[in-house]
Amino acid sequence: MCGGACGDVYESPSLAQKYPHVAGLSTVGQSVEGRQLWVMRIARDPDRKSLGKPKFGYVGNMHGNEAVSRQVLVCLLARYGEEERITELVNGTDVCIVPGMSPDGFERSTEGDCSGDHSGRNNAKNKDLSGGFPDQFDKSNVDPADIPEVMEVMRWIQEMGFVLSGGLHGGTLVASYPFDDSASHEQEGHYSPSADDGLFRQLALVYRECRIIRQVVFLRNFIIEQETCSQ
Ligand SMILES: [Zn+2]
Repeated sequence: MCGGACGDVYESPSLAQKYPHVAGLSTVGQSVEGRQLWVMRIARDPDRKSLGKPKFGYVGNMHGNEAVSRQVLVCLLARYGEEERITELVNGTDVCIVPGMSPDGFERSTEGDCSGDHSGRNNAKNKDLSGGFPDQFDKSNVDPADIPEVMEVMRWIQEMGFVLSGGLHGGTLVASYPFDDSASHEQEGHYSPSADDGLFRQLALVYRECRIIRQVVFLRNFIIEQETCSQ
């Protein structure tokens, strides 16, 4: 998405030092194995309260072996001041990103291995963090002590008062809206709209259309690159 300009998110402390005018680093809490759940605030003057700007919260890498979302953070920082759209976005909003919610799972992951639960998808207690969040109809049967990552992120989200937040996964192109459950406990084939269903559908549509445009641009650039190389 952003070529060679992007490093890895666990350069987060050095990223905040490198881009102090737009990046402020703090931590939401710790994982089972004591790794920090870093949160990077991206805004103009990140050390001051930004009144009147909408706050957005994003959580990435909730499944430890889905690492692509971590790079979104780095792109927002590295392209600020260079790419008009990103500069406008950062100037007009207050964005907080937890790029790695499952650092323990990430550490156990092997690049290129996307095969399932024992390849870093779950946390160090072998719990699926995505399934650890509350359900509107059923009580969770997961012990909170086994999912400190979820408990810390929930506390943080409630504290922050975001106007919009989302979780970024990897592996396929899906936009799922809240809530994907049902009062009758049917797991499939039941549409369960939230109060803001219209908004979430619109956002999903915009995401899909932008994604298609990005793929076309990527393909065009790839073809140009190939043609240049073959000359
Ligand atoms: Zn996932």
